[in-house]
Amino acid sequence: MRKKIVAGNWKMNKTLDEALALTSEVVNMIQDEVRGDVEVVLCTPALYLTTLKKYVENAPKIALGAQNCHEKASGAYTGEISAPMLKAAGIPYVIIGHSERRQYFAESNAQLAAKVDSALENGLTPIFCCGESLEQRQNEDYVNVVKTQLTESLFHLSADQLASVVIAYEPIWAIGTGLTASSEQAQEMHAALRAHLSSKYGSEVADGISILYGGSVGAGNAAELFACPDVDGGLVGGASLKSRDFTDIVKARQ
Ligand code: PEP
Repeated sequence: MRKKIVAGNWKMNKTLDEALALTSEVVNMIQDEVRGDVEVVLCTPALYLTTLKKYVENAPKIALGAQNCHEKASGAYTGEISAPMLKAAGIPYVIIGHSERRQYFAESNAQLAAKVDSALENGLTPIFCCGESLEQRQNEDYVNVVKTQLTESLFHLSADQLASVVIAYEPIWAIGTGLTASSEQAQEMHAALRAHLSSKYGSEVADGISILYGGSVGAGNAAELFACPDVDGGLVGGASLKSRDFTDIVKARQ
C-alpha cells in the first residue's frame, strides 16, 4: 500500500504570526475532520520550522518539511541550510528540485542528485519534484524530459534508498497559473514515471513509491486528480496558504 500524502508548499509566504495562525487552523481542522489514513506535510519557510514543531507534535497526521537543503553538510555557503541541520531540528521532509529552484537558482539534475543523497544520508524524506515546461509539453517530448530528470537525479540510488523518496510530478505550466493538468494528463505521466522506475528497480519497488501531483491543485479539482490510480496525493502551493482550502484537499485524499 502506497502512502497517501498531501504536502503544502508555502514558498516565501507568511510572517511568523501568520504562520502560527495558519498552522493552528490546519492542525485543528485536520484533527476534527480527517479520519482517513493520509500524511499531511507542511513545508513552511525554514525560519519557522522549529517554532512550528510544538504546534504539530500532538497531531499524528501532520509533519513538517523544508523547501530546500544544500547538498553539502556544512561550510561556507552563506544563506543555505543543510540536511544535517534539518535532521538535528527533527524535521522529517524536504522538498528537492522544485521547478522554482531549478529555474531561479539554476539547480541541475546532477546537483539535485547530490541533494537527494544528503537528505537520505540524514534520514530525511526527499519530496523530489520533476516536471516539464510548456514548451516541452508542446514539443510532445514531455514524457522523456521528465523521465530524464528521474534518471539523472535518482537512478544512482539503491532500491532501498529509492523506497524512501517521494516523487512530485509538477508540470511547470500548471504551477501557480490556475491551469491544472487534466486527470488524464496526470495519470499518463504518473503511470509513465512508475513504469520508468519499474524498468530500473522492478515493479515491486516502483509500486511502493508515492507519486504526488502538483500544479494548481484546489478544493475543486483534488478529488478527480486523486481518483487516478497512479496519483497518490498532492503537492499544493497557493491553496496550502488557506486552511479551509488545504483541509478540503486533504479530505479529498483520505
Ligand atoms: C507548487 O509550487 O509546488 C505548486 C504546486 O503551486 P500551485 O499549487 O500554486 O500551483
